[in-house]
Order: sequence, then structure tokens, then C-alpha cells
Amino acid sequence: MTVATTLATDVRDLLHDLGVPRDRFSQGSRVVRSPLTGEIVAHVQDAGRADVEKAVTQAKTAFLEWRSVPAPKRGELVRVLGEELRRAKTSLGRLVTIEAGKIPSEGEGEVQEMIDICDFAVGLSRQLYGLTIASERPNHRMMEQWHPLGPVGVITSFNFPVAVWSWNAALAFVCGNPVIWKPSEKTPLTALAVQVLFERAAAKVGRVPHGLSTVLIGDRDVGEVLVDDPRVPLVSATGSTAMGRMVGPRLAQRFARSILELGGNNASIVCPSADLDLALRAISFAAIGTAGQRCTSLRRLFIHDTVYDELVVRLQQVYGSVRIGNPLANDGVLAGPLIDGDAFERMQNVLLEAQKLGGEVYGGERVDDDKYPSAYYVRPALVEMPAQIGPMLRETFAPILYVMKYSDFDVALALHNDVPQGLSSSIFSNDVREVEKFLSVSGSDCGIANANIGPSGAEIGGAFGGEKETGGGREAGSDAWKAYMRRVTSTINFGHELPLAQGVRFDVG
Ligand code: NAD
Repeated sequence: MTVATTLATDVRDLLHDLGVPRDRFSQGSRVVRSPLTGEIVAHVQDAGRADVEKAVTQAKTAFLEWRSVPAPKRGELVRVLGEELRRAKTSLGRLVTIEAGKIPSEGEGEVQEMIDICDFAVGLSRQLYGLTIASERPNHRMMEQWHPLGPVGVITSFNFPVAVWSWNAALAFVCGNPVIWKPSEKTPLTALAVQVLFERAAAKVGRVPHGLSTVLIGDRDVGEVLVDDPRVPLVSATGSTAMGRMVGPRLAQRFARSILELGGNNASIVCPSADLDLALRAISFAAIGTAGQRCTSLRRLFIHDTVYDELVVRLQQVYGSVRIGNPLANDGVLAGPLIDGDAFERMQNVLLEAQKLGGEVYGGERVDDDKYPSAYYVRPALVEMPAQIGPMLRETFAPILYVMKYSDFDVALALHNDVPQGLSSSIFSNDVREVEKFLSVSGSDCGIANANIGPSGAEIGGAFGGEKETGGGREAGSDAWKAYMRRVTSTINFGHELPLAQGVRFDVG
């Protein structure tokens, strides 16, 4: 595996390869650090209020033009963007690794997800159709049409620095909307690179209005200006529930639409009939992968008492042996660092809290701090809990897996649902009754419910999102596109009479 002299050099070369002008990442007051080593890799300039104003004004003008471009022609832009992403996959994937700390296959996987949603959106650009509805009145026809909505604000989290933008943007573009993107302040470089790829695709396609896609670097202040702007009819915000609590009411206050994709506290149930080899692999990926920093990471595990001891011992073996470290410096690493020191401190505090509540903690200690004193690598933690209490009810964005024994399936199911969050879930069982119950109306209360796979690693074809404190938003596949459009119901009278609905009579003259 090749390691550049310093990550800063690597970043400079990658951004250069991707075509990002040097002045966009070499000056400015925002310091960008890589969680892989903690070193400074770039400087970027935050957007000011005037930049937000300019972006929204341009987006509004772009909207008036873009909404009249036929949807399949809008799809052409997204098709070419998909091609640019294919070409840039290795470089952009590596940049994701450096900026967000993901292992290379996950960094590239994130770019693949962008490509997949582009493909999906291209097909969608010929399928933005509504219904024809039977009218109760003679010689009348009812129909619904879907029209473009307007500029879409997209606020994203650090842990999926580029994929979340693409889930929103690919749909928004084919639906006829401009996108104004406020990426996480922790991952601005990948956003700048994606914007350049977009600009290249737009130049190739031609006649794409200026301001159709903008990136505004900055922290929550920049996001708030976007959230409060009445010219932005939809804001899709991905991040913590704390962020959603601030953003949701502000959008509601001005009757704007929101897609909120917030925190999860995802669980799996392992039943007596489960294939334990398969479950072990799935649980390990879901709980340890991305160093527990996925919204869908597995955080709670309910294991039937007949298989509990065997599975916990096997999990401990995995937790004790899995390779943690700098994925660019070592082969075979399966989990990189936490995003920063704050995340590490939160993890340690939560482990102490769990211990005080009777939890038995296995793992969780810092590793490689001698090599990387400014980076935060941790061994994932397995915590056997006596009850679902304390930190088990919250999302801690770190690799902590709480484990509990159960003997009654319905009790496990009730515990599964008894948390404020409702993002993703799964069951491991070969008993069709248990599986079907878990997926049924009286089963998992999450937006995503899987069987015999873990809760993380969704495909773009399905609608993605969750219930309760996860915010209720849906992005990506299925009919999630409808959130980015305005539905118009039209009734057409092709007769000479004027019958009124519900038999109402109103005779004049
Ligand atoms: P975060 O809440 O700290 O920040 C997310 C984004 O929101 C950032 O761009 C931030 O600048 C912005 N922001 C914060 N406060 C804001 C405000 N008041 N107004 C406008 N913008 C504001 O989250 P994070 O640490 O970057 O990401 C981790 C969190 O994101 C976890 O809780 C995770 O579960 C969640 N997440 C959810 C999904 C999902 O689809 N449900 C996907 C990825 C991440």
C-alpha cells in the first residue's frame, strides 16, 4: 500500500487530479484535518451571509430556467455526472478516506453509491408520472401532475460526506430543482471536489443554468441562514437528532418542507434458529464497520439465551482481533479512526456510564496513540448490559455494541422498539413466523427492517430513512422523489354541463 510523504501532499495531488482550483483549498480560515493522523491537510474559506444570499438568488434564477427543461433532458446532466463520478471513483474515494477516515473499500463504496443513485435518477427522469383518477362527474377527467418545487437546501453530516448529497441532488436535478449544499464543516474537501465534477458535467452537457449547484462551506451558522430563507421551499438535513430539533421547527415556522435524516439506535435480534456464522459476519460489519459511525450502525443486540454464550464468545474473539488502524498505512484494516477527540471523549464517558449501571465492558480502549497522538483509534467495545437503560437509549456515534440476553421473542421485540429512535433494524432467524412478525405491523417500528442481514449498508433502490427521533424523512429510491416535487391535481370538464361534486346544486340565472 502506498503512503504519500504527508497526507497534505496526498490531498493536494488528489484535489489537483480532480480539478479543484488550488485557491479553493489552500487559503481561508477553516482548517481541515484528517482523522487518520490528525494533521492539517488543507485550509478552506467559509461562506459568509452574502455568499448564501448570492447562492440562493442564483438558484432561484436557475430554477426558472431549469424547471422548463424536459425531465429526460435534465436526466442527461445526471447521466454525465455519473460518468464523471465513475472516472473519479478512485481519487474521490481516497479523499473520502482521508477526510472522513473510512477504509478504502468504504470510501470507494460511497462513490459507487453516488454512481448508483445517478443511474437510478436517469431512469426516473422518464418516470415522473402521476395518476389519472376516475371522476364522479360525467365528462370530467381528473389527473395529477408533478412539477418542480424550487431550490433545495441540502445539509449533510460528516460520516457520509458525499453520498448523502447525491441521494438528494440526483433526484432534485431530474425533478427540476437547483441544489444548495452545506456540507459538514468537518468534510469540506470532498464537497469541493464533487462540485467541480458537477461543473465539468454541466459544461459537457451545455445549457445548464449557472447556480444549479452550489456549495457553501461553513458550520451551523451557514446552515441556519439557508434554513431560514423563504426562497428555499425544501431543506433536506442529515445529522444528529439535536440538529433536527433545531432545524425542524424553523422550517415548520415558515411552512417549508423538510426531509430530516437524523440519529439512529439500531438493533438486531438473534433467534435460536439463526445461522450464527452468517449472523457473526453481519453483526461485525454493522457494529464495527466505519468505526461505528454510520447512522445505521448496529448499537443494540438481543440474543436468545440458547445461543447467547456461544455468540458472545465468538464476538469477543472478533472484537479482540479485528484490525484497527490507519487504513492507508496498513493492509487488512477494517475500522479506521473516530472523527475527532470529542467523539473519543464521548465514547469513553458513555462506557464509564454503562459500567456504573452494571454493564460489562469488553474493549473500547484507545490504540495507536503512540503512533498518532492527534488521531483517535479505538478498539470497538462490546458491553453486556443487565437491562436496556442509560446510554443504551441514546445514540453514541462510536463503535459500542450493547448486548442483552432474552428468552421471550415478544419481550425482545418490545425492547427493540422501546427507544426514541427508529432508523434501522434486523432479525437473524430461520423461523418464518419470527421473521414475518418482525417485518409485520406489530414488528419493528423502524423505517428499515431487514432479515438475515445487519441493519447497515442499504442499497439506493429503496427509500432510506427512519421514524420517531430519526425524523421521518425518506431519501434515495422508491418514490422518495415525490418530496422534491409539487403535486398538482387537475380536473378537466370536456362536457357542456357543470355538475358539481358531491351533488351540490348552485343554480344561478
Ligand atoms: P451534526 O448534527 O453535528 O451535523 C450535521 C450537519 O448539520 C452539519 O453540516 C452541521 O453543520 C449542520 N448543523 C448543525 N446544527 C445546525 C443548525 N442548527 N442549523 C443548520 N445546520 C446545522 O451531525 P454529524 O456529527 O455531522 O453526523 C452524525 C450524525 O448524523 C449522527 O447522529 C448520525 O446518526 C446522523 N446521520 C443520520 C443519517 C440518516 O440518514 N438518518 C445519515 C448520516 C448521519
